[in-house]
Order: sequence, then structure tokens, then C-alpha cells
Amino acid sequence: MSPELLKMKEVALIYLDRSGGLQKLVDDCKYYNDSKQSYAVYRFIISVNPSDITELDAALGNQILHEPLKAAQIFQSVCFIAVKTLSLIEQLQTEAQISIVLKPTHLPSLPSYVLSLCEFPFNYMSQRFYMSEGIVIAMGMVTKYTQGARFLCSEDSCPFSEGFRYIRVHLPGATESATVRNDFVCSLCTSPLQEDMKFRVLGDKQLVEMIDAKALRAFQGHFNNKPHFRIQSFTVFLRDELSNKVKIGNRYRFIGIPACVQNGPQATVCIEVNNIQLYTPKDPSHISDNFKYLLSLTSNSCWRFSAILANIFASQVVPPGTYNTLKLSMLLSLVQTCDEDTETAGYLDLLVATSDTLIVDR
Ligand SMILES: [Zn+2]
Repeated sequence: MSPELLKMKEVALIYLDRSGGLQKLVDDCKYYNDSKQSYAVYRFIISVNPSDITELDAALGNQILHEPLKAAQIFQSVCFIAVKTLSLIEQLQTEAQISIVLKPTHLPSLPSYVLSLCEFPFNYMSQRFYMSEGIVIAMGMVTKYTQGARFLCSEDSCPFSEGFRYIRVHLPGATESATVRNDFVCSLCTSPLQEDMKFRVLGDKQLVEMIDAKALRAFQGHFNNKPHFRIQSFTVFLRDELSNKVKIGNRYRFIGIPACVQNGPQATVCIEVNNIQLYTPKDPSHISDNFKYLLSLTSNSCWRFSAILANIFASQVVPPGTYNTLKLSMLLSLVQTCDEDTETAGYLDLLVATSDTLIVDR
């Protein structure tokens, strides 16, 4: 092992000890150990503060920020030794079974850490952390993906036909076929590897479509000086503890790793989110004085403002047949308060009479 690598492992251990990460590891291991079940992969989330780590050791801090997959390997090795030395999980056999998810608390507020998918070029092949933000415009159902799998050599006489030598773990940006496939071969005897299905570990995955907040400005007429503009939505992956964390229409700031997903002949840039937070700008949008005046005139009733808007807005321009839907969605979004995530959010009741319940459901 190179002296640099050894030094980084030492620092990682010191950081874990000081930041409380080691105690969290011990607690997380207790859950696995108590279950008495043998898993292919033991997954640990480690929160890292890049500033604190960089102060301890610049090389490790740099690696976390710029080569997070390599940095995770350092923590993987440290955690494996810790688990083994302290006998935290009896069932654990190999280092490959430890899966580490590093979650930076923040990134340096420098332009090179901001990813705007509105601006080219962006370096989507770099596999490192970026900050970005966007508005959720669509989201899929939560589905399962393979978090980890155990493979065995199909040749009975080979020593790797048992044990936990071949463990495949999902890495940010990888597709399902990178984790589980049927053309892996044994590195010892080149026989094909077979998955031991009993040990497949599934996690939750949700695909969310986001758009840059600048797109809203287009609707507000602020792009008038630029006759041509194009804003492309982008897909973000929310996995495991992050699935079901977002709501349509809300704006979020997140840290993630860009990834290129091959979709037939087309490559799509996606972002594998690591950390996501609701973002409410303090200075909301550009509301005209007339609009504010209308709001003040109607402020004596919670419903009046929404009702007036729904009645007067866009009746001339919306496509035929969608006017009522538009009115309804405006009403629904307007009667809802902004702080929908807080428990004290005051919801207004809305009575809808319709023959088409599907639209109301949506
Ligand atoms: Zn083999």
C-alpha cells in the first residue's frame, strides 16, 4: 500500500472518530448483527464535512470532492477493518461486502462546483459532486433496483464457487446491467459467474424530471430580448432514503454526480442525487404591481383571489377542452399554502363538482 493511501486511511479513521461517524457505524452494525441474517452487502451512509476533512488532510478532502468513488473505497476499507476488529457483524466475510455512501454536508461555494444544465459545456463525465437546483415537473413511481448482488463461480472445484468474493454493488451512474448481468467470468478459472439470487439486495429508486428554475422566467416574459431559447428538462435519480422526498412543483437544491445513461442510440445526461433539500427563494419571482393590488383587494377572503384568477386568466388562449382543467389546477395550486411541508400548513377546502373524476384525481 502506498504511503499516501495509508495516510488517507488513517485520516479517514480519525475523522470518523471525531465526527461521531464511528459511533454511527457501530449503531448501524448492531442492526445487521442483531438480524442474524447474512447479507451480500452491508450499506453504510457516512456524512462528511469537506471543510473539516480538508483541514485534517487536504489530499483526502480533495479526493472526496473530486473522486468520490475512490474516496468511498478508502472509507470502505477503514470501515471493514473497524467492523472486523471490533467484531461488529459476525456474518461479514469480505471487504467487498461493505458498501459506503459518502454524503457531503455541502460543497465549496465556488463556480466550479455548480452545475447548470442550461449552460454548456458541462463536464458530465467527471463523476464528481456538483451542486445544482431545479423544479420538479414530473416524477415516476418508486421502483426497485439492485443495490448489491453476490456471484459465485459456476465451476464447483474452484475456490470462488463459495464465499463472498464476487460482490457487485451499484455505483452512481451505473445502469442495472452493470450490477447484474450474465457474462461475468471468474478471474481465477474464467468459468462463467452465476448470481446467487438468495442474496440479491434491492433498494428503492425513483426517477424525477426537473427543469432549471430559469424556465419559469420564460413564462414571465423575461426572455423577450432573446427570441430563441431552449430549456431542456433533466432526469434525476433518487435512490433509497431519498425516494419519495420530493413533490411536483417544488424547487430543490441538491448535490449529485452527473451520469450518462445510454438509452438506445441516445445518451442522456442524468444526475444521481446524493443529497436534496427544498429551496424556497426569499425573494419570490417578479410579480407586477397590478397583481399585488388585486391580491390586496381580495385579501378578505382566502378563495376570492384564486377564483378571480381562474375565471379571468387564459380563457382565450388555452386549447379547447382544457379550460376547465386549467381553472381547476390553478384553483388547487392557489388554495394550497406555500409551506406545504410544515405541519402547520393551513389547507383550504375546495368543493369540485365534475363528471370526470380522473382529472380531479390527478
Ligand atoms: Zn472460478
